[in-house]
Amino acid sequence: MNFILKGKLKYYTKESTKILLMVGIAFGFVSGMLFIKYKPVYAVTLGDENVGYIENIEEFEKDVENNVINYTAKNVESVEIKETPKYELTFVNRGEKTNEQEIIIAMQKDMDITYKYYEIALEDEVVDSVDTKEQAEKIVSELKQGDENIDLTITEKTTKNLEEVKTAELEIAKSNISTRIEEKEMEGAVAVVEGIKFANVPVTGRISSRYGEVSRIRSSTHTGLDIVASTGTPISVVADGTVICAEYSGAYGNLVKVSHGNGVETWYAHTSKMYVKVGQEVKAGDVIAAVGSTGNSTGAHLHFEIRINGKHVNPQNYMYN
Ligand SMILES: [Zn+2]
Repeated sequence: MNFILKGKLKYYTKESTKILLMVGIAFGFVSGMLFIKYKPVYAVTLGDENVGYIENIEEFEKDVENNVINYTAKNVESVEIKETPKYELTFVNRGEKTNEQEIIIAMQKDMDITYKYYEIALEDEVVDSVDTKEQAEKIVSELKQGDENIDLTITEKTTKNLEEVKTAELEIAKSNISTRIEEKEMEGAVAVVEGIKFANVPVTGRISSRYGEVSRIRSSTHTGLDIVASTGTPISVVADGTVICAEYSGAYGNLVKVSHGNGVETWYAHTSKMYVKVGQEVKAGDVIAAVGSTGNSTGAHLHFEIRINGKHVNPQNYMYN
């Protein structure tokens, strides 16, 4: 009994090996035929859309990495792909061409780009923006060499909208910002004479004699502006500078002269009191003297003169209009 069963089993094993072999040969033959006519590729889908075929997933992913995910261009901060490609093995005619390149381009068109740029603000007012942090830092450090107290800040901004990226070239941005700094410095000026900011008038009052007027109490035309104010009225220096004269000076009476740089001087005459000394640094608005009637004067007033490179000019070309 045992013996007979073993013999049968042997027979069946032999038979099944034969069948398996034949099936194997047939399968090999058919698949061989198939491989002559067809080749295996991967169908690629993005979202629900079939976008083409690729030959090698690994190489394709490498291309996606280099050309889409790591896409670099001006102002590009990061890139996200909206749809991750999905692959499915399939067979196409050997003559059929795969289209890796087209799929990459389609993915580039559909990617979600975040742009970045750098805003430079002057006292919280955005003045300009540039492409890189290095450019922004260069501008700020160069402008701070002129005045380290300038309040300039750099802010990194990101946007998905390329339209919002309105950056300027380095030199243009720098000049825009320095122009704005100058404008800001001049804000509130009552006059700007040769680049010198006159922050205030020396006294307020009625003008009793204008520049260039001829009067019988003077031998020549008037070299300044006379402003009427009562004796003792404080006289404020109009701009930052250095006192270069504070003494009685003939027809001018008690005369204070202040030099502001750029060849600009302001003179304050007929004063009753002088509160400053030669060599003293003064700030715009500082009280330097008091209105009086010393020297060639018929009543209390301030005779105010502006001199540019030694020559008197009409103060009303700049102020008291
Ligand atoms: Zn005068």
